[in-house]
Amino acid sequence: MNKYLKNLNRIEFVVTMACTGKCRHCSQGEHRSSENIDKHSAADAVRKIAGEYDIESVMTFGGEPLLYPETVFEIHKAAREMNIPKRQLITNGYFSKDSDKIKLVAEKLAESGVNEILLSVDAFHQETIPLEYVKMFAQAVKETDVEIKVHPAWLVSPQDENPYNIKTKELLADFNVMNIETAEGNVIFPSGNALVYLSEYFDLSKETKNPYDEDPYDVKAICFSANGDVLGGNIHKKKIEEILTDYLPK
Ligand code: SF4
Repeated sequence: MNKYLKNLNRIEFVVTMACTGKCRHCSQGEHRSSENIDKHSAADAVRKIAGEYDIESVMTFGGEPLLYPETVFEIHKAAREMNIPKRQLITNGYFSKDSDKIKLVAEKLAESGVNEILLSVDAFHQETIPLEYVKMFAQAVKETDVEIKVHPAWLVSPQDENPYNIKTKELLADFNVMNIETAEGNVIFPSGNALVYLSEYFDLSKETKNPYDEDPYDVKAICFSANGDVLGGNIHKKKIEEILTDYLPK
């Protein structure tokens, strides 16, 4: 076992960089690429990593991961097979306008073993993502046994009374009426689009630590990019076992 990964307990996948949203707070910037990770390689990586490390959670996100639902299903099936207890999906909920397809995807997410869905709903997402289809998806998930929560992005802090947060609270209330709770969400970090469009809300004279940065000497979570990159290697070019063994902090 690689000593720098001895506490590894979480695997994350950026399923695709393609997205149905164009959010002005997006930390990934403009979504010009439609790259998506190969479903078989991703599922195989889950099995191999969980065979060696004590993995507690697997999370799929994007871009919009449900543009490639089969990949999401395969990753979570592998996670369930390996007895990984927490199997999460973060989605903006807008991947189709077809109610039958929306229902089918919700059912297949449940079948594949996803046990928590965090639905991105806030003033930023809803500038470009129609709420009608997001609610249709949320309702379809409610009809399964998968837990679903709304997961907002807050500007400055959840308590700050800026116009975006006020709008976000109104949107969340709509979902609370559907018996969908609000998760903690996250506070927008100044990078990507947020730095371009929302800079007046950040104190750029101070260095802000990215909350998602990992200690390279004690990695607890690894994240696969949509092109297969992970820990300085790429699963389409090198076996995941070798990538894990060869990892060295930079
Ligand atoms: S914040 Fe999420 S939904 Fe919005 S553009 Fe970025 S990845 Fe897409």
